[in-house]
Amino acid sequence: MSLTEQPNLKPCPFCGSTDVSLKSCKYDDASLYVSGERYHYVECMDCDSQTGQCFDEDAPHFGEFKDGKEMAIFKWNMRK
Ligand SMILES: [Zn+2]
Repeated sequence: MSLTEQPNLKPCPFCGSTDVSLKSCKYDDASLYVSGERYHYVECMDCDSQTGQCFDEDAPHFGEFKDGKEMAIFKWNMRK
């Protein structure tokens, strides 16, 4: 497991696994979103539960986060 990017993620609230990771993706469906727009989400590698897609441009409106990455981490960590 890579340690290059290890944000402060809590264990999975559903299965307790610590094998959770932050993913960043590109949205290429131009019919729905501007091509190339990036979003982020946190996913549990054991039970596949995940936060919703957190777009960079939504982050400031959601909770004054600086980008979707921060927003995804916050969403994950607030789960119970
Ligand atoms: Zn899990």
